[in-house]
Amino acid sequence: MVTRSDRYKDQFLAILAHELRNPLTPLRMGLDILNSQPSPERAQQIHAVMDRQLVHLVRLVDDLLDVSRVSQGKIVLKKERIPLSDIIQSAVEAARPLVDSGRHALRVDMPVRPMWVNGDRTRLAQVVGNLLSNAAKYTPPGGKLSLEVHREGQDVRIVVIDNGLGIPLAMQSKIFELFTQVGEHTARAQGGLGIGLALVKQFVAMHDGSIAVQSDGENTGSRFTVRLPLLAEIPEGASANAGQPVRPEHPPRRILVVDDNEDVAETIGWLLSEMGHEFRLVHDGREACDAAREFKPDAVLLDIGMPQMDGYAVCRAFREDPALRDLPVIAQSGWGQEQDKNKTAKAGFDHHIVKPVGYDDLERALTLAIQSRRIAHPVP
Ligand code: ADP
Repeated sequence: MVTRSDRYKDQFLAILAHELRNPLTPLRMGLDILNSQPSPERAQQIHAVMDRQLVHLVRLVDDLLDVSRVSQGKIVLKKERIPLSDIIQSAVEAARPLVDSGRHALRVDMPVRPMWVNGDRTRLAQVVGNLLSNAAKYTPPGGKLSLEVHREGQDVRIVVIDNGLGIPLAMQSKIFELFTQVGEHTARAQGGLGIGLALVKQFVAMHDGSIAVQSDGENTGSRFTVRLPLLAEIPEGASANAGQPVRPEHPPRRILVVDDNEDVAETIGWLLSEMGHEFRLVHDGREACDAAREFKPDAVLLDIGMPQMDGYAVCRAFREDPALRDLPVIAQSGWGQEQDKNKTAKAGFDHHIVKPVGYDDLERALTLAIQSRRIAHPVP
Protein backbone atom coordinates (compact mmCIF):
# COMPACT_ATOMS: atom_id res chain seq x y z
CA MET A 1 0.00 0.00 0.00
CA VAL A 2 1.29 3.42 -0.90
CA THR A 3 1.18 5.60 2.21
CA ARG A 4 1.03 9.36 2.41
CA SER A 5 4.64 9.54 3.47
CA ASP A 6 5.64 7.38 0.45
CA ARG A 7 3.85 9.84 -1.80
CA TYR A 8 5.52 12.75 -0.04
CA LYS A 9 8.92 11.08 -0.40
CA ASP A 10 8.33 10.34 -4.11
CA GLN A 11 7.24 13.90 -4.70
CA PHE A 12 10.26 15.25 -2.89
CA LEU A 13 12.66 13.02 -4.86
CA ALA A 14 11.07 14.18 -8.09
CA ILE A 15 11.55 17.79 -7.04
CA LEU A 16 15.20 17.09 -6.31
CA ALA A 17 15.72 15.56 -9.72
CA HIS A 18 14.04 18.55 -11.38
CA GLU A 19 16.26 21.02 -9.59
CA LEU A 20 19.47 19.10 -10.15
CA ARG A 21 18.94 18.41 -13.83
CA ASN A 22 19.62 21.95 -15.05
CA PRO A 23 23.26 22.23 -13.97
CA LEU A 24 23.94 18.53 -14.56
CA THR A 25 23.15 18.70 -18.26
CA PRO A 26 25.94 21.12 -19.25
CA LEU A 27 28.35 19.21 -16.97
CA ARG A 28 27.55 15.89 -18.68
CA MET A 29 27.84 17.45 -22.14
CA GLY A 30 31.01 19.32 -21.18
CA LEU A 31 32.67 16.06 -20.13
CA ASP A 32 31.65 14.36 -23.38
CA ILE A 33 33.10 17.22 -25.42
CA LEU A 34 36.32 17.23 -23.38
CA ASN A 35 36.65 13.49 -24.01
CA SER A 36 36.52 14.11 -27.76
CA GLN A 37 39.81 16.08 -27.72
CA PRO A 38 38.47 19.55 -28.59
CA SER A 39 40.72 22.50 -29.52
CA PRO A 40 42.46 24.22 -26.59
CA GLU A 41 40.18 27.29 -26.99
CA ARG A 42 37.05 25.14 -26.93
CA ALA A 43 38.38 23.19 -23.93
CA GLN A 44 38.93 26.46 -22.09
CA GLN A 45 35.37 27.61 -22.83
CA ILE A 46 34.00 24.29 -21.65
CA HIS A 47 36.02 24.45 -18.45
CA ALA A 48 34.55 27.88 -17.73
CA VAL A 49 31.01 26.61 -18.35
CA MET A 50 31.54 23.54 -16.17
CA ASP A 51 33.05 25.68 -13.46
CA ARG A 52 30.01 27.98 -13.36
CA GLN A 53 27.55 25.12 -13.48
CA LEU A 54 29.34 23.25 -10.71
CA VAL A 55 29.06 26.34 -8.52
CA HIS A 56 25.31 26.32 -9.20
CA LEU A 57 25.05 22.66 -8.39
CA VAL A 58 26.90 23.03 -5.12
CA ARG A 59 24.62 25.88 -4.12
CA LEU A 60 21.53 23.82 -4.92
CA VAL A 61 22.83 20.88 -2.91
CA ASP A 62 23.61 23.23 -0.03
CA ASP A 63 20.02 24.40 0.02
CA LEU A 64 18.56 20.95 -0.47
CA LEU A 65 20.54 19.57 2.46
CA ASP A 66 18.37 21.66 4.70
CA VAL A 67 15.04 20.34 3.44
CA SER A 68 12.88 22.04 6.00
CA ARG A 69 14.39 25.41 5.13
CA VAL A 70 13.48 24.87 1.48
CA SER A 71 9.97 23.62 2.13
CA GLN A 72 9.27 26.56 4.43
CA GLY A 73 10.64 29.01 1.88
CA LYS A 74 13.44 30.01 4.26
CA ILE A 75 16.15 30.33 1.65
CA VAL A 76 18.80 32.87 2.51
CA LEU A 77 20.06 34.82 -0.50
CA LYS A 78 23.77 35.51 -0.94
CA LYS A 79 23.42 38.98 -2.39
CA GLU A 80 26.30 40.83 -4.02
CA ARG A 81 26.83 43.42 -6.72
CA ILE A 82 26.70 41.52 -10.02
CA PRO A 83 26.77 42.53 -13.67
CA LEU A 84 23.49 41.58 -15.29
CA SER A 85 25.42 40.15 -18.25
CA ASP A 86 26.76 37.37 -15.95
CA ILE A 87 23.23 36.33 -15.08
CA ILE A 88 22.12 36.31 -18.70
CA GLN A 89 25.19 34.30 -19.72
CA SER A 90 24.69 31.65 -17.03
CA ALA A 91 20.99 31.40 -17.82
CA VAL A 92 21.62 30.89 -21.53
CA GLU A 93 24.24 28.24 -20.76
CA ALA A 94 21.85 26.39 -18.47
CA ALA A 95 19.04 26.45 -21.01
CA ARG A 96 21.25 25.78 -24.05
CA PRO A 97 20.83 21.98 -24.13
CA LEU A 98 17.02 22.30 -24.23
CA VAL A 99 17.15 25.11 -26.78
CA ASP A 100 19.45 23.07 -29.02
CA SER A 101 17.56 19.83 -28.64
CA GLY A 102 14.37 21.65 -29.72
CA ARG A 103 16.29 23.13 -32.69
CA HIS A 104 15.04 26.57 -31.67
CA ALA A 105 16.57 29.82 -32.77
CA LEU A 106 17.47 31.92 -29.73
CA ARG A 107 18.10 35.66 -30.05
CA VAL A 108 19.61 37.51 -27.08
CA ASP A 109 19.25 41.29 -27.12
CA MET A 110 21.07 43.22 -24.49
CA PRO A 111 22.22 46.86 -24.24
CA VAL A 112 25.99 47.32 -24.45
CA ARG A 113 26.07 49.68 -21.47
CA PRO A 114 26.65 47.50 -18.38
CA MET A 115 23.92 47.14 -15.75
CA TRP A 116 24.33 45.97 -12.18
CA VAL A 117 21.97 44.38 -9.72
CA ASN A 118 22.21 43.59 -6.04
CA GLY A 119 21.35 39.95 -6.15
CA ASP A 120 22.07 36.31 -5.60
CA ARG A 121 23.95 35.16 -8.68
CA THR A 122 22.69 31.58 -8.60
CA ARG A 123 19.06 32.41 -7.91
CA LEU A 124 18.81 35.11 -10.56
CA ALA A 125 20.44 32.85 -13.14
CA GLN A 126 17.96 30.19 -12.06
CA VAL A 127 15.06 32.61 -12.62
CA VAL A 128 16.06 33.56 -16.16
CA GLY A 129 17.29 30.05 -16.98
CA ASN A 130 13.97 28.56 -15.89
CA LEU A 131 11.97 30.95 -18.06
CA LEU A 132 14.20 30.19 -21.05
CA SER A 133 14.04 26.44 -20.45
CA ASN A 134 10.24 26.65 -20.27
CA ALA A 135 10.17 28.64 -23.51
CA ALA A 136 12.23 25.86 -25.10
CA LYS A 137 10.11 23.06 -23.61
CA TYR A 138 6.71 24.51 -24.44
CA THR A 139 7.51 25.46 -28.04
CA PRO A 140 7.29 22.89 -30.84
CA PRO A 141 10.64 22.11 -32.52
CA GLY A 142 12.19 24.81 -34.67
CA GLY A 143 10.63 27.67 -32.71
CA LYS A 144 11.76 31.23 -32.21
CA LEU A 145 12.83 32.28 -28.72
CA SER A 146 14.15 35.61 -27.59
CA LEU A 147 15.63 37.00 -24.46
CA GLU A 148 15.48 40.79 -24.29
CA VAL A 149 16.95 43.09 -21.68
CA HIS A 150 15.69 46.67 -21.44
CA ARG A 151 16.76 49.40 -19.06
CA GLU A 152 13.78 51.40 -17.77
CA GLY A 153 14.82 54.19 -15.44
CA GLN A 154 15.99 52.57 -12.21
CA ASP A 155 14.76 49.13 -13.25
CA VAL A 156 15.64 46.46 -15.76
CA ARG A 157 13.07 44.45 -17.66
CA ILE A 158 14.12 40.94 -18.69
CA VAL A 159 11.70 39.49 -21.21
CA VAL A 160 11.57 35.89 -22.40
CA ILE A 161 9.43 35.40 -25.50
CA ASP A 162 8.53 32.25 -27.42
CA ASN A 163 6.19 31.41 -30.29
CA GLY A 164 5.05 28.13 -28.76
CA LEU A 165 1.96 26.63 -27.12
CA GLY A 166 0.87 29.76 -25.25
CA ILE A 167 -1.07 29.78 -21.98
CA PRO A 168 -4.87 29.90 -21.71
CA LEU A 169 -6.10 33.09 -20.04
CA ALA A 170 -7.70 31.17 -17.18
CA MET A 171 -4.33 29.59 -16.28
CA GLN A 172 -2.21 32.72 -16.46
CA SER A 173 -2.71 33.69 -12.82
CA LYS A 174 -2.32 30.07 -11.61
CA ILE A 175 0.92 28.89 -13.23
CA PHE A 176 3.02 30.60 -10.55
CA GLU A 177 1.47 28.37 -7.88
CA LEU A 178 3.34 25.28 -6.71
CA PHE A 179 2.56 22.07 -8.67
CA THR A 180 0.39 23.85 -11.25
CA GLN A 181 0.68 22.82 -14.88
CA VAL A 182 -1.47 23.48 -17.91
CA GLY A 183 -3.22 20.13 -18.51
CA GLU A 184 -2.60 20.09 -22.26
CA HIS A 185 1.12 20.73 -21.76
CA THR A 186 2.05 17.84 -19.49
CA ALA A 187 3.37 15.74 -22.38
CA ARG A 188 6.00 18.42 -22.94
CA ALA A 189 6.88 19.05 -19.29
CA GLN A 190 9.86 16.60 -19.53
CA GLY A 191 9.45 15.40 -15.98
CA GLY A 192 8.65 18.85 -14.63
CA LEU A 193 6.33 19.03 -11.65
CA GLY A 194 5.14 22.58 -11.86
CA ILE A 195 7.56 23.92 -9.31
CA GLY A 196 9.86 26.01 -11.53
CA LEU A 197 7.64 29.09 -11.83
CA ALA A 198 6.69 29.00 -8.14
CA LEU A 199 10.39 29.20 -7.27
CA VAL A 200 10.94 31.87 -9.93
CA LYS A 201 8.20 34.03 -8.45
CA GLN A 202 9.56 33.59 -4.94
CA PHE A 203 13.14 34.44 -5.95
CA VAL A 204 12.08 37.50 -7.95
CA ALA A 205 10.07 38.81 -4.98
CA MET A 206 13.09 38.23 -2.71
CA HIS A 207 14.99 40.61 -5.03
CA ASP A 208 12.23 43.28 -4.74
CA GLY A 209 11.15 42.51 -8.28
CA SER A 210 8.02 41.31 -10.03
CA ILE A 211 7.05 38.84 -12.73
CA ALA A 212 4.17 38.84 -15.20
CA VAL A 213 3.01 36.61 -18.03
CA GLN A 214 1.24 37.53 -21.22
CA SER A 215 -0.22 35.21 -23.84
CA ASP A 216 -3.10 35.50 -26.28
CA GLY A 217 -4.00 31.86 -25.67
CA GLU A 218 -3.38 28.53 -27.33
CA ASN A 219 -0.52 28.35 -29.86
CA THR A 220 0.11 32.08 -29.79
CA GLY A 221 3.33 31.98 -27.78
CA SER A 222 4.10 33.41 -24.34
CA ARG A 223 5.96 36.39 -22.96
CA PHE A 224 7.33 36.41 -19.41
CA THR A 225 8.57 39.73 -18.03
CA VAL A 226 10.77 40.01 -14.94
CA ARG A 227 11.37 43.46 -13.52
CA LEU A 228 14.27 44.04 -11.12
CA PRO A 229 15.68 47.18 -9.49
CA LEU A 230 19.10 48.23 -10.80
CA LEU A 231 22.10 49.41 -8.81
CA ALA A 232 23.87 52.68 -9.58
CA GLU A 233 26.71 52.34 -12.07
CA ILE A 234 30.22 52.19 -10.70
CA PRO A 235 32.78 54.72 -11.88
CA GLU A 236 34.74 54.16 -15.10
CA GLY A 237 37.80 51.97 -14.61
CA ALA A 238 36.47 50.35 -11.44
CA SER A 239 34.55 47.91 -13.61
CA ALA A 240 37.56 46.62 -15.51
CA ASN A 241 37.50 43.31 -13.64
CA ALA A 242 33.75 43.18 -13.26
CA GLY A 243 32.48 39.65 -13.00
CA GLN A 244 35.96 38.13 -13.01
CA PRO A 245 37.09 36.37 -9.87
CA VAL A 246 39.58 38.60 -8.14
CA ARG A 247 42.90 36.81 -7.78
CA PRO A 248 45.02 39.05 -5.60
CA GLU A 249 48.75 38.58 -5.54
CA HIS A 250 49.53 36.53 -2.47
CA PRO A 251 52.81 35.53 -0.87
CA PRO A 252 53.75 31.85 -1.17
CA ARG A 253 52.85 30.01 2.01
CA ARG A 254 53.49 26.67 3.65
CA ILE A 255 50.26 24.78 4.18
CA LEU A 256 49.72 21.53 6.06
CA VAL A 257 46.75 19.55 4.72
CA VAL A 258 45.20 16.97 7.03
CA ASP A 259 42.56 14.80 5.35
CA ASP A 260 42.00 11.05 5.58
CA ASN A 261 40.65 10.96 2.02
CA GLU A 262 43.79 10.69 -0.04
CA ASP A 263 42.16 11.82 -3.29
CA VAL A 264 40.74 14.92 -1.64
CA ALA A 265 44.06 15.72 0.04
CA GLU A 266 45.98 15.25 -3.19
CA THR A 267 43.61 17.50 -5.16
CA ILE A 268 43.94 20.21 -2.54
CA GLY A 269 47.71 19.82 -2.82
CA TRP A 270 47.53 20.36 -6.60
CA LEU A 271 45.38 23.44 -6.10
CA LEU A 272 47.78 24.83 -3.49
CA SER A 273 50.77 24.32 -5.73
CA GLU A 274 48.87 26.00 -8.62
CA MET A 275 48.43 28.91 -6.23
CA GLY A 276 52.19 28.99 -5.64
CA HIS A 277 52.13 27.53 -2.10
CA GLU A 278 54.19 24.73 -0.62
CA PHE A 279 52.26 21.96 1.05
CA ARG A 280 52.54 18.77 3.06
CA LEU A 281 49.81 16.09 3.17
CA VAL A 282 48.94 14.02 6.23
CA HIS A 283 46.16 11.42 6.18
CA ASP A 284 45.80 10.65 9.87
CA GLY A 285 44.84 13.15 12.57
CA ARG A 286 47.30 11.51 14.97
CA GLU A 287 50.25 12.52 12.77
CA ALA A 288 49.14 16.14 12.48
CA CYS A 289 50.95 17.56 15.53
CA ASP A 290 54.31 15.98 14.64
CA ALA A 291 53.97 17.08 11.02
CA ALA A 292 53.11 20.63 12.12
CA ARG A 293 56.15 20.82 14.44
CA GLU A 294 58.44 19.55 11.71
CA PHE A 295 57.01 21.34 8.62
CA LYS A 296 56.30 24.66 10.43
CA PRO A 297 53.32 25.62 8.24
CA ASP A 298 51.84 29.12 7.95
CA ALA A 299 48.37 27.54 8.17
CA VAL A 300 46.67 24.16 8.49
CA LEU A 301 43.74 22.91 6.41
CA LEU A 302 42.07 20.38 8.66
CA ASP A 303 39.34 17.90 7.75
CA ILE A 304 36.71 17.28 10.44
CA GLY A 305 35.51 13.70 9.96
CA MET A 306 38.55 11.43 10.35
CA PRO A 307 38.47 7.90 11.87
CA GLN A 308 41.19 7.77 14.56
CA MET A 309 41.37 11.37 15.73
CA ASP A 310 38.87 13.83 14.28
CA GLY A 311 39.50 17.46 13.31
CA TYR A 312 38.09 18.84 16.57
CA ALA A 313 40.51 16.74 18.63
CA VAL A 314 43.45 17.68 16.37
CA CYS A 315 42.62 21.38 16.67
CA ARG A 316 42.30 21.12 20.46
CA ALA A 317 45.69 19.36 20.57
CA PHE A 318 47.23 22.25 18.57
CA ARG A 319 45.77 24.79 20.97
CA GLU A 320 47.15 22.93 24.00
CA ASP A 321 50.67 22.72 22.59
CA PRO A 322 52.73 25.88 23.29
CA ALA A 323 54.65 25.42 20.01
CA LEU A 324 51.49 25.12 17.88
CA ARG A 325 49.02 27.20 19.86
CA ASP A 326 48.99 30.16 17.46
CA LEU A 327 48.80 28.23 14.20
CA PRO A 328 46.03 29.47 11.89
CA VAL A 329 43.71 26.47 11.45
CA ILE A 330 40.96 26.23 8.84
CA ALA A 331 38.21 23.63 9.10
CA GLN A 332 37.29 21.89 5.87
CA SER A 333 33.95 20.25 6.22
CA GLY A 334 31.04 18.87 4.26
CA TRP A 335 28.77 20.58 6.76
CA GLY A 336 28.26 24.31 6.53
CA GLN A 337 25.27 25.24 8.67
CA GLU A 338 25.51 27.86 11.39
CA GLN A 339 25.68 25.22 14.17
CA ASP A 340 28.55 23.44 12.36
CA LYS A 341 30.52 26.68 12.14
CA ASN A 342 29.85 27.44 15.81
CA LYS A 343 31.17 24.02 16.73
CA THR A 344 34.45 24.46 14.84
CA ALA A 345 34.88 27.98 16.24
CA LYS A 346 34.41 26.55 19.73
CA ALA A 347 37.07 23.89 19.10
CA GLY A 348 39.56 26.66 18.26
CA PHE A 349 39.42 26.85 14.45
CA ASP A 350 40.04 30.27 12.90
CA HIS A 351 37.94 29.72 9.82
CA HIS A 352 35.47 27.22 8.33
CA ILE A 353 35.13 26.39 4.67
CA VAL A 354 32.65 24.01 3.09
CA LYS A 355 33.69 21.32 0.61
CA PRO A 356 34.07 21.34 -2.34
CA VAL A 357 36.51 24.20 -2.08
CA GLY A 358 37.52 26.35 -5.06
CA TYR A 359 40.56 28.50 -5.69
CA ASP A 360 39.06 31.79 -4.50
CA ASP A 361 37.47 30.31 -1.36
CA LEU A 362 40.73 28.71 -0.41
CA GLU A 363 42.87 31.80 -0.94
CA ARG A 364 40.37 33.97 0.96
CA ALA A 365 40.22 31.50 3.85
CA LEU A 366 44.03 31.32 4.11
CA THR A 367 44.37 35.09 4.08
CA LEU A 368 41.60 35.62 6.64
CA ALA A 369 42.81 32.89 8.99
CA ILE A 370 46.41 34.10 8.90
CA GLN A 371 45.38 37.74 9.32
CA SER A 372 43.00 37.06 12.20
CA ARG A 373 45.74 35.12 14.08
CA ARG A 374 48.18 38.01 13.52
CA ILE A 375 45.68 40.51 14.87
CA ALA A 376 44.88 38.30 17.89
CA HIS A 377 48.51 37.33 18.56
CA PRO A 378 50.85 39.94 17.05
CA VAL A 379 54.44 38.78 16.56
CA PRO A 380 56.59 40.94 18.85
P1 ADP B 1 7.20 22.65 -15.17
O1 ADP B 1 7.65 23.22 -16.47
O2 ADP B 1 8.27 21.91 -14.48
O3 ADP B 1 5.94 21.88 -15.29
P2 ADP B 1 6.84 25.39 -14.20
O4 ADP B 1 6.42 25.83 -12.85
O5 ADP B 1 8.11 25.90 -14.74
O6 ADP B 1 6.84 23.82 -14.16
O7 ADP B 1 5.67 25.79 -15.20
C1 ADP B 1 4.32 25.58 -14.84
C2 ADP B 1 3.45 25.36 -16.07
O8 ADP B 1 3.33 26.60 -16.79
C3 ADP B 1 4.05 24.39 -17.06
O9 ADP B 1 3.72 23.07 -16.72
C4 ADP B 1 3.38 24.83 -18.37
O10 ADP B 1 2.10 24.26 -18.48
C5 ADP B 1 3.21 26.34 -18.19
N1 ADP B 1 4.27 27.11 -18.87
C6 ADP B 1 5.39 27.63 -18.31
N2 ADP B 1 6.12 28.30 -19.24
C7 ADP B 1 5.45 28.20 -20.41
C8 ADP B 1 5.69 28.68 -21.73
N3 ADP B 1 6.76 29.40 -22.05
N4 ADP B 1 4.75 28.40 -22.68
C9 ADP B 1 3.66 27.67 -22.38
N5 ADP B 1 3.39 27.19 -21.15
C10 ADP B 1 4.27 27.44 -20.16
